[in-house]
Order: sequence, then C-alpha cells, then structure tokens
Amino acid sequence: MIYFQSLTKTDLAELLLPLSRVKEERALRDMPDGDDKEAFRAKVDKKKLKQSQMRAQQIFHWVYQRYVVEWDLMTDLAKDLREWLKENVKIFRLEESYAKQSLDGTFKFLWKLHDAKTIESVIIPAALREKIGDEVIDTLEDGKRYSGIETNSAGLNQDLTEDSWARLTACISSQVGCAMACKFCLTGVQGLDRSLEVHEVVTQVHELRMRAPITNIVFMGMGEPLHNVKNIIKACQIMLDEDGMNFSKRKVTVSTSGLVPAIEELYQHTDVSLAISLNSSTDEQRSAIMPVNKKWPIAELLNACRKVPLGAHRRITFEYVLLKDFNDTAEDAHRVAKMLKGIPSKVNLIPFNEHSGSEFKRPSDQTVLDFQNVLVKHGYTATVRISRGRDILAACGQLRSLFGTARGTEKHKDYVGSSAVTNTTN
Ligand code: SAH
Ligand code: SF4
Repeated sequence: MIYFQSLTKTDLAELLLPLSRVKEERALRDMPDGDDKEAFRAKVDKKKLKQSQMRAQQIFHWVYQRYVVEWDLMTDLAKDLREWLKENVKIFRLEESYAKQSLDGTFKFLWKLHDAKTIESVIIPAALREKIGDEVIDTLEDGKRYSGIETNSAGLNQDLTEDSWARLTACISSQVGCAMACKFCLTGVQGLDRSLEVHEVVTQVHELRMRAPITNIVFMGMGEPLHNVKNIIKACQIMLDEDGMNFSKRKVTVSTSGLVPAIEELYQHTDVSLAISLNSSTDEQRSAIMPVNKKWPIAELLNACRKVPLGAHRRITFEYVLLKDFNDTAEDAHRVAKMLKGIPSKVNLIPFNEHSGSEFKRPSDQTVLDFQNVLVKHGYTATVRISRGRDILAACGQLRSLFGTARGTEKHKDYVGSSAVTNTTN
C-alpha cells in the first residue's frame, strides 16, 4: 500500500499513468506500423499523460484543499479509478494521542505513529507581540501592526477556527528525537530514534489544517530536518504545490543546526525559507554546545548561507538561544552583528526554555533586551521570541518527555508586560 501523502503531484500522475485510457488507443492499435504510427503513438501518450496529470490535480484538490480523506467521497472520479485507489493508495491519518491548549492559546498535539513512537506538533497563534501602555500590539511578519487580536484575557478556550488570529503557525517535527546532541536541547539529550517518512511529515500539517486555518509552517519541532533532507524536500514540495497545500515559499521555514551540504541540496529542489540555529558568537562557544559545529564551523555555515538563492526581499532567520552567562553578553551581540554582515538576515532571540535535561539557565529579561538593543543599533531586525506555551511545555521535545508522567501545570507567566518588546529596524 502506498501512502497518498508520500507522493508529489508528479509522483501521483506517474502512478496513475498506466490507468489512463483515451479513445484514440483503438485507432492506434489498428494502424499499420511506420512513421505515422509512431507520431500518432507519441500524441496518444501525451494525451494519456495529460489525463493522469489532471486526475492527480483533482485528487490533490480533494485531499489538500477540500480535506476529503475517503476515496468514495471523491464523486467526480470514475468508479473504477476510485476502486483502484482504494486498493492501492491509502490516505494516511495521524492518531491524536494528546492535545492540549496552553493558557496563552498555544495548542500542542502529540501523535502516535504506527510503531507506537510519538511525535509532536504545535500551533502557535498570532505574531510578535508588544505591550504599549495598556494596549497589546501584534506585529506581523509583513510589518503590519494590529491591536486587539490577542486571546480573551488569559487566552482560555479560544476557538482556533475563528478568524481572530493574525497568524497560526504550525510547528512540526521532522524526526523522532534528534541525533545532533545540542547540549541545551531536550530532544538532543534524548537522541535519535528514527527519521520521519514523507507522509508522516505532510500529515502533521494536514491534520492541523483540518482543525485550524494554518497560515505558516516551521520545521522547529523535534528533529533536524536537514538530517532527513530527502523526505523534507518532498514534503516541502507538497506544501508549496498550488494544487496541494498551496503555501507561499515565504510561509514555510526549515530550521537547521547547520548541515552545510544539505542546505545546498535543499535549495536545488525547493525554495522554502531558511532559519539557522546560530546560538553562539564564536566557534569555541558553538562547538561546546552544538557538536555539528566541529564538522561545519561558523565560517563554512555562513558561506553556505551567502550562496542561498534568496531572491528579493527575503532574509535568512538566525535563531539565537540565549543561555545565561554563556553566550548572552553585549560582546557576543557585537560579534554576531559583525559575522552576519552582508547576509540578508534577521535575528530571532530565544531566551532559553529551562528543563530538567540541562543545567543552563535563562538570562534575565534585561540581559535579553540589552542583547537585542546591540543588534538593533547595528541595524538588524532583532526579535525576541515570546515564550509561548510554557505552561504545557511547548518547547522542543518537552511534551514528549513529560507525557505519561505529570501533566504541565506550571503557572502561566506571560512574557509580555515584563520586557519582551519587539524592535524592528529596516
Ligand atoms: N533541529 C532544528 C530545528 C528544531 S530546534 C534546529 O536546531 O534548528 C528549533 C529551535 O529551538 C532551534 O533554534 C533551537 O536552538 C531551539 N531550542 C532547542 N531547545 C531549546 C530550549 N530549551 N530553549 C529555547 N530554544 C531551544
Ligand atoms: Fe536537534 Fe535542533 Fe535540538 Fe539541536 S536544537 S538537538 S539540532 S532539535
């Protein structure tokens, strides 16, 4: 059985090609051999290919745009085609084993896979948030500012199907666990179990879209997407396909710890946005927390970034997890500003999300702000990621390790209102 969600539209058209029937085939059979017959055969083959491409397009619409997941309900497909699909192609579903809304509106899902392993996806509502006086302002990626789109007071019971969210980002997993062993990351501490198949990646988004109008996708859940690059490329192609999920390339972001050759491979096949987990201002520092840096040090990583065919008005996001007394000084910020010169970039500062698998601590809000200000003074767009879903441990890998033990009940502390403001320049 083939999983439908493992197929790009081209794959599906190829699969359906032997089923294509056109009326000219009889005439072709009756023709005497010769050049005329070969020319006619080419015409017939072209017509058959077109038919299978159209069917693939039709089926993509049914599943990804109309959310129909049963072949029998696809009423404009011929009955014999539907029967064939029922026998040969399975529309995959992920089994939801846990879903919980955080006090701030973040939704976290834990999915059970066929081999009983679990992965997680998170829906993160809205955008960059700042509090000006008594007013909460959300600034979207396109620079537009909105007020009043926040959740009702504490964000409880917000219906995700309402249009009130400015942005609903799906944060999805690429692997069960992760092999990259970053010292600050709970998924890294857990190690790699296995990579996800294409259908498991695509279906996370499909399931979330069946529940909420997702506007953005980020590969920032469990795993290193570029350690599973072939499958991630295919998944991205399905997400970007205008007959498929129809996401714009700007709205799908692959985040990587820096597997240099795979960055190039990614861009040979797809054109999504890129985020780099920089997390340090020197090689020494980076190698101490991210073993991948020993193989591909900062200079090589940034060189690969310079070669990414970004096109106009697109920037690479550099993520920087701020670890107290480790990489959080003004000197670090100056070094980051210097090293990113010449790369169209924005910096996303992530105050460390503390967990039991790591000794690191989160810096004070003031330290975070000071770091941000240095970057802003250098002319960078530097945002602070508001820590969402902390009460249900929405950080990388944290729900999975929690599940089965205590449920997260940590009191909600909204970062807004302390000092997580967003400054944007350029
Ligand atoms: N493997 C990819 C994507 C998943 S991790 C990568 O590393 O880019 C997504 C982001 O979460 C990364 O930027 C990572 O640095 C960050 N991260 C991991 N653990 C964290 C923690 N405990 N607190 C804050 N950010 C964390
Ligand atoms: Fe893997 Fe990313 Fe965590 Fe590093 S930060 S261990 S690459 S998931």
